[in-house]
Amino acid sequence: MRLRNVPGAREVIAKSPMVVHEPEKIKGNWNKIFKNDHPLQIEIGMGKGKFLYEMAKKNPDINYVGIEKYSSVLLRALQRMEEDPVPNLLFIRMDAENIEQVFAREEVDRIYLNFSDPWPKDRHAKRRLTSREFLKRYDQFLKKGGKVEFKTDNRGLFEFSLEELPYAGYEALKITYDLHHDGEMALGNIMTEYEERFSSIGNPICKYIVKR
Ligand code: SAM
Repeated sequence: MRLRNVPGAREVIAKSPMVVHEPEKIKGNWNKIFKNDHPLQIEIGMGKGKFLYEMAKKNPDINYVGIEKYSSVLLRALQRMEEDPVPNLLFIRMDAENIEQVFAREEVDRIYLNFSDPWPKDRHAKRRLTSREFLKRYDQFLKKGGKVEFKTDNRGLFEFSLEELPYAGYEALKITYDLHHDGEMALGNIMTEYEERFSSIGNPICKYIVKR
């Protein structure tokens, strides 16, 4: 998702108390920022943040951090929060390439990847957030036994993502090729913006839950 450049977005983000600036300095101390010892869950490539916002409202005893590369997109998430803030949700504007610099070993409980960019060219496979390269980065801060949850309507990307798991030592716990019609996995599912859009035109949604 790359919205048209929104004038002033960077300035709004720079001033927002809901955005963590210089997140590398918080590494290992996220519980102090949230002022509690609740588990920490993150979404990488959060987009406009609907999913994480609803998760945070539903689960006040979990801390959430949403990561988004583009200011114009993150701005939309901030606008939602300004209307009705939740204390257990913060944002970072960054490219996840360097995500291991932001969280310490075993600091993160769960990672959500929703409708991640497919990077269709083979030579760009390393940029996919479900590639073995990214999964190995996640090892550096995801708890042993911590989970990665991935949703997409892109079947090719999903097959690729499943094939990457053994190379990085992750174990599949649950897999579905039609989330919305999978009784157990559909239960309590919160839809993302992309999920709403693609399921409304009839695309089945694939999902995996894997364990480190
Ligand atoms: N997760 C949202 C959803 O399901 O509605 C947005 C999906 S959108 C296709 C992918 C989002 O991931 C975009 O907003 C994009 O800017 C962001 N993104 C892609 N690669 C990223 C990266 N390396 N670091 C941070 N954000 C990234």
